[in-house]
Amino acid sequence: MISDVINPKDIKKVDPVFGQLSFDDHEQVVFCHDKDTGLKAIIGIHNTVLGPALGGTRMWQYNNEWEALNDVLRLSRGMTFKAAITGLNLGGGKAVIIGDAKTQKTPELMKKFGEYVHSLSGRYITAEDVGMETSDMDLVREVTPYVTGISESKGGAGNPSPITAYGVFMGMKAAAKFKFGTDILEDKTVFVQGIGHVGESLVEHLTNEGAKVIIADINEERLQEVSTKYGATIYSGNDIYSESMDIYAPCALGATVNDDTIYKIKAEVIAGAANNQLAIEDKHGAILQKRGIVYAPDFLINAGGIINVYAELENYGKQEILRKTENIYNTTLQILEKAKESDLTTNQAALDIARERIATRKKETSK
Ligand code: NAD
Repeated sequence: MISDVINPKDIKKVDPVFGQLSFDDHEQVVFCHDKDTGLKAIIGIHNTVLGPALGGTRMWQYNNEWEALNDVLRLSRGMTFKAAITGLNLGGGKAVIIGDAKTQKTPELMKKFGEYVHSLSGRYITAEDVGMETSDMDLVREVTPYVTGISESKGGAGNPSPITAYGVFMGMKAAAKFKFGTDILEDKTVFVQGIGHVGESLVEHLTNEGAKVIIADINEERLQEVSTKYGATIYSGNDIYSESMDIYAPCALGATVNDDTIYKIKAEVIAGAANNQLAIEDKHGAILQKRGIVYAPDFLINAGGIINVYAELENYGKQEILRKTENIYNTTLQILEKAKESDLTTNQAALDIARERIATRKKETSK
């Protein structure tokens, strides 16, 4: 017989949220559930010292809830440092919706999610991430003002992905300048892993510059489409990480630089859009440093998207968006130089600057 009463001795002594390895003094974690629409979402608010926590919503078919929680904690933390290093008055947050965006995303589910965002009264502001479209944000906008990345026709700044790609391109050029002594990418072999919204736009910049671009994706149709459009070569091998290339651009999901891949990587520069590329920041950052592989910190070079959506809150136009995004080149070069001078990993050097800005603001506001 199944008993309703759980014997306290049978409850495992695990700390499911505050004890998670990815928990980094997050201010708030919100679990959202709605039986009617099937919504299962988690909103992570990492830090709001610099402003409201802004970050996109990812819809993904996670293997289990632990994976989803871990993802939202890592992603929201990354947003804190992204906003801080980019000089934006925003905190870090992110949301994940558990499910298949192709088959389980409905207008009702998106609006219900919007109601949860609204219940936080602006402490968290959402936008699009993997599995989301501008049209989904338009639906969320029907129930809450706390959303960015809405259509230009509805007064928003539109899809942030092309701007993200432009920023990644700038960061990649800066890393190339640092490593190869030139930022001209003509004839450099660049491997773009993931050719979704950002990846495709990055491929366009790279092919325009005359780089040799190799692409990989789990979506065969997109591979054919992007290859035909830009003349990029579709990867046909079975171990991306062992391939010879000058630059590796991770533009799918995070943690691809991990224990299994890090010693195989032949690229001299890693610069891509994916969030949280290093599975374990300190460990994998240090191995890259030792191997002489220049890693352009993801949260620094993929900030174009947040610059674009921030424009909706601050009412600045396209020119200012482009100016701020172009500046990723200078910031990246400065960070890479600072890391070399101080014998730090590039990730650490970037984090130090971001943390300093947050600490200064905290001190100012607590006076
Ligand atoms: P997207 O969903 O449009 O594209 C992701 C692509 O990666 C898809 O084509 C998918 O098929 C592919 N993919 C998934 N798993 C893969 C695998 N194992 N190997 C190869 N390809 C795989 O997402 P996006 O908006 O282009 O974002 C890409 C990455 O950049 C994400 O990590 C996202 O968090 C990050 N990012 C995006 C933005 C933005 O403005 N969209 C901003 C900052 C960071």
